Amino acid sequence: MNKNPYEVLGVARDASDADIKKAYHKLVMKYHPDRNPDNKEAEEKFKEVNNAFDILKDPQKRAAYDRFGDAAFAGGNASGAGFGGNPFGNGAFHFDMGGGAGMEDILREAMRGFGFGGGPQRGAPQRGGRDLLDEVVIDLKDAFFGKTHTVKFSSNVTCEKCHGHATDDGKPAPVCERCGGSGFVQTRQGFFVTEMPCPECNGLGRKISKKCSECDGTGTQHKQRTLEVKIPAGIEDGARLRLAGQGEAGANGGPAGDFYLDIRIRPDKRFERHGNDLIMHVDVPFTTLALGGEIEIETIDDKKLEVKIPAGTQVGEKLRVRGHGMPLVRRSGAYGDLYVDVAIKIPTKLSDKQKKLLSEFAGIKSEKKSWF
Ligand SMILES: [Zn+2]
Ligand SMILES: [Zn+2]
Repeated sequence: MNKNPYEVLGVARDASDADIKKAYHKLVMKYHPDRNPDNKEAEEKFKEVNNAFDILKDPQKRAAYDRFGDAAFAGGNASGAGFGGNPFGNGAFHFDMGGGAGMEDILREAMRGFGFGGGPQRGAPQRGGRDLLDEVVIDLKDAFFGKTHTVKFSSNVTCEKCHGHATDDGKPAPVCERCGGSGFVQTRQGFFVTEMPCPECNGLGRKISKKCSECDGTGTQHKQRTLEVKIPAGIEDGARLRLAGQGEAGANGGPAGDFYLDIRIRPDKRFERHGNDLIMHVDVPFTTLALGGEIEIETIDDKKLEVKIPAGTQVGEKLRVRGHGMPLVRRSGAYGDLYVDVAIKIPTKLSDKQKKLLSEFAGIKSEKKSWF
């Protein structure tokens, strides 16, 4: 029996998708097997959290749960690898009265998420593997250059010995004759059609005479894995990278889930990012602003650059330095711009001569008001 997914994630019934994602992320990090080696309790929690998120992240599954509770998912213990994971559990019946979006449609939708084919031509009860999600925090400079991030984790993978077929010889098992490979048998009583997992093959659709010894007939194994994720130059904060098929292995030949990596970018001390553009704040002597001149800045890729300050530049003006912003992810070789936000540097120690000259300047200013 699955636990109430709302309770597992500690969110309210009406929690937003963002809240659900946040709660999931926190818990999945907390109970991740890599952080809790040989901790059975954490492993259970990890599974529960993933199961709960599986349901709540998907609007259709969530709606099905809200309406029917566990009945919508009974028996679909997604923890594992389990063959025979079957969303109808011990044979919930459905109404076969034709037409209209009823319970059947909703269940069918719910099933689709599990990798069951919807509709009458139901295939073997394959189940897609779970998606995995991780997060990495990188520096703005890493986002500028791009980097390869190595993720180490453990997950279910397709059994190497039987290639996921769960058979001792590693070949697909013959189709079950009783259910014709659907994994279900039906009996009709008047209006009602009772559908049950095929007792001959336990809903598998195939008859395995001898189980694979390596995976004990589950078709999957738990393994330490290492993924090298290429983070492209110009990636934005909050971006999510998807590695198709790198999630957990599916059951009974079902497709593997995907691996997702969320990218967070640490705030930078020198640069603010606005889309593809960067802003840097630079203190400039007021004489340079008034008379014009050049200042030297250092770009994000550590290049020294002379920037021209036009005479009469005001504090708060932003001088554009073309092509020294962030690279564009989708247009290789293109860059945003760098803006130099000009602030004034007031000298704190003045020599007598400087004081005299400034006093003279102030005097001229009061004589000719049109100066400013
Ligand atoms: Zn069968
Ligand atoms: Zn195997």
